Amino acid sequence: MNFLLHFLINYSACTLVFGDVSSMWLYILLFSSAIDLDHIPHMRRKKPKKLIEWMEYTADVRSRFHEIYGLVLFMLIFVVAYFFVENKLLVLVGIFCFALHFIVDILTGDTRPFYPYSKKEIGPLLVKNKRVKMMLDVGLTVFIGGYFIFKMHLIRGLLGLI
Ligand SMILES: [Zn+2]
Repeated sequence: MNFLLHFLINYSACTLVFGDVSSMWLYILLFSSAIDLDHIPHMRRKKPKKLIEWMEYTADVRSRFHEIYGLVLFMLIFVVAYFFVENKLLVLVGIFCFALHFIVDILTGDTRPFYPYSKKEIGPLLVKNKRVKMMLDVGLTVFIGGYFIFKMHLIRGLLGLI
């Protein structure tokens, strides 16, 4: 899944679980997408023609922080932060967004869950066909993104920050 779709899915799910989270949209963007930054060093290694293949997010572009190792580490950081950060809702949103990112990734992409201890890859648990995955990626981004633009949730959130 692309970073924008991760954000849109997480923002929608946060709205369902926590209510109006529009004032936290920037944090949700960070918590939803930051983990995908580990793909960037691999982009330099790819020729433009190979970028589409790379977009399918093969497991070897995922660092240890993008697997169970990272999930446990980030959850520990959030649990510790919960006791020190005044805005408890923000910490809960962070836990929710990180966990949901990992769940969406494991359902739709190739992962190496126990990397760096094991390089054994598992395929997507839900969407196995690459073409369907690409169509879902683009289709859901346009659909959910269009819904948000229509409802103006994000624009209201943006104006609230200015
Ligand atoms: Zn990811």
